[in-house]
Amino acid sequence: MFIHKEIIFVISFVFLLSGLILILFILDFIKLKKNISQQKKRLVNNHFFFHAYEPIVYSLNQTNSAAQKEINKKEISVKFFQNFFFNFPDPLIILDSHFNITELNRQGQALIEENAVGRNIILAMRMSGLEELLKKLLLSKKFETGQLRTLGSPEQFFHAWASFFKRGKDNQILLRLYNSTNEKKFQSLQRDFLANASHELRTPITAILGCCETLLGVGKSDEKIRTKFMKIIKKESSRMRSLVEDLLLLLNIERVEHSYPSGNISINDLFIDLMQLVPKIYSVRNKLTFFKPLMKIDIPGDYNEIKQVMLNIIDNAVKYGSSKKAIEIRCRKKDSFIELVVIDFGKGIETNNIPLLTNRFFRVDESRSREMGSTGLGLSIVKHIISRHNGNLEIKSHPGAGSAFKVCLPLQKKINVEDYKTNVN
Ligand code: ADP
Repeated sequence: MFIHKEIIFVISFVFLLSGLILILFILDFIKLKKNISQQKKRLVNNHFFFHAYEPIVYSLNQTNSAAQKEINKKEISVKFFQNFFFNFPDPLIILDSHFNITELNRQGQALIEENAVGRNIILAMRMSGLEELLKKLLLSKKFETGQLRTLGSPEQFFHAWASFFKRGKDNQILLRLYNSTNEKKFQSLQRDFLANASHELRTPITAILGCCETLLGVGKSDEKIRTKFMKIIKKESSRMRSLVEDLLLLLNIERVEHSYPSGNISINDLFIDLMQLVPKIYSVRNKLTFFKPLMKIDIPGDYNEIKQVMLNIIDNAVKYGSSKKAIEIRCRKKDSFIELVVIDFGKGIETNNIPLLTNRFFRVDESRSREMGSTGLGLSIVKHIISRHNGNLEIKSHPGAGSAFKVCLPLQKKINVEDYKTNVN
């Protein structure tokens, strides 16, 4: 069959054109797919066939990206609350309505145990007050607080908050505990302190009142009795004054104990000061030997506070360490700290009493120390001042041989003598 040349030409042209249009269509379709998958946020305006769909792709992409943003925000928020729950500084425990543990944070795990999930909290965490608190919560269905105490040792105290909350369809309980052991200890220390301070003040007040009664009665006309009782009043009043002064000093030191003192101490000036002052106070010039530092030593700290430390320790050495041999006051420079040492050759201290010496109002021999006008606060003040200076106090004593009180103070602010010594040993 004969086909005209022009017809063949037209047919080939039509095929070619259709092929081109098909390729163009496929390319345009791929572009459209890409724009949807890449979520282009701007109108692209580069389609040939799908030009009309561009606004739809654009608005679809806008909706998608808004939804994605919302999901990301929610994910961040969920992660934040998960972290917040897990790392919360107090124990947090979630229970179902039968008091079984469903979740607990890091502090909760430390308090109970890691695999406590699924166990009943009353059995897993043995604390007095817990069952009552949860039962009260079941009745009120809202929010309850209570005080809990561990049954084992060491004894610990907790404030507890328990409240119901909805999780999906379930009712769950959030239990938050706050460890109040230190507060309790502090309160009991405060109570003891007040009781001791009142007791210490009551003794001289009673003595003064007794004297006044005698002076108003039989002592009125008797010169001898009057002089004797006036002397007692003077002695007891000065005891009261020392007690109040020491109490105020102790309170002031405790208030600033956790802030490192500013200033500089020249140990050489401190020794010169003590060498002039101490003999004047005790008039025992020949019984004190000072070994001045041979080199210039400066340390950070409060001059008057460290002078107070030395005066208190020397005062004790004079009061309790009386012997024929002179009291020695020395200074030594070690690698990163200095040692100020007061050595006496007196009656010494029993080993079991040494750790108690820095407790407030502690005296080895109650009545003898009182007789000497002591307050029982001197070494407590010493301890707090040294701790403020990141230093430490070492006491060595042998009954009958004497005692050595060694004050170690860092040469630089950032060094803590206690930590340094622990690392070296
Ligand atoms: P105070 O001297 O006011 O009683 P301190 O706190 O300074 O209070 O001392 C507490 C107790 O430690 C003293 O009552 C004393 O029994 C004992 N003590 C302190 N230093 C010495 C010492 N160098 N030798 C023997 N006993 C001491």
